[in-house]
Amino acid sequence: GAAATAVGLTKTYGRGPAAVHALRGVDVSFERGAFTAIMGPSGSGKSTLLHLLAGLDTATSGRVLLGETDLTALGDTALTLLRRQRLGFVFQQFNLLPVLTAEQNITLPLELGGRRGGRGAELDREWMADLVDVLGLRERLSHRPSELSGGQQQRVAIARALIGKPELVLADEPTGNLDSRSGAEVLEFLRRSVRELGRTVVMVTHDAVAASYADRVVLLADGRLAGEVTDPTPEAVA
Ligand code: ADP
Ligand code: ADP
Repeated sequence: GAAATAVGLTKTYGRGPAAVHALRGVDVSFERGAFTAIMGPSGSGKSTLLHLLAGLDTATSGRVLLGETDLTALGDTALTLLRRQRLGFVFQQFNLLPVLTAEQNITLPLELGGRRGGRGAELDREWMADLVDVLGLRERLSHRPSELSGGQQQRVAIARALIGKPELVLADEPTGNLDSRSGAEVLEFLRRSVRELGRTVVMVTHDAVAASYADRVVLLADGRLAGEVTDPTPEAVA
């Protein structure tokens, strides 16, 4: 089955003549173990779709499923718990805590989940070691974010997103704050973590080169699905 599915997903901001139709009935599913990029011009609905997949905003109509769970049927408390226990997030700005080491940043979600009555998550040392190996962070664990390059910081953020073995990782323009060389490196590591760690990643980007690292690119235009490319090349999605 799919890790996540959108069915007839519609989002309208505001009402009446000022209403903005951000999504106009999107049907798409994200297969487990795949790396999918959502691409489209500014204003095409990418962020809205990502926020709805994250349960951070409510749909006007249609449904979002995470596995078998219908997010559109859940209240705020259940959604918050679901985000902590079943999703991972990677942001454009890394969002690492400057006073913590790379290792402490990576394991932070486990601490928060445990203390706030999540699942009392214990660190799986073998999983941590796999993450550190696949993301090339072994020599960096005791460094603070300010002692790391942008690309290394984003790799720490990816490890943090993966530490709880989430069913779905949502990445919002993860290379938007990096030069093209470290961006390419981060995308290569993200692709490796999908292949070697069996993760499911959905990444929003407006960059065709970034999107070409994915297994599949879903194109949005004006709130609608405008096409799909499997095994993309930068030329095919530009
Ligand atoms: P993208 O991420 O592809 O740039 P967005 O999902 O951010 O697209 O936006 C889709 C449309 O919805 C745009 O016209 C945008 O201006 C509008 N929009 C996004 N968020 C809001 C909001 N909170 N209130 C009103 N309009 C919004
Ligand atoms: P918390 O109080 O821990 O921030 P939330 O339910 O607000 O709890 O957030 C849970 C997770 O959802 C956060 O750890 C973060 O990764 C993600 N999240 C929160 N806000 C946003 C956002 N605006 N965009 C993307 N992801 C978000």
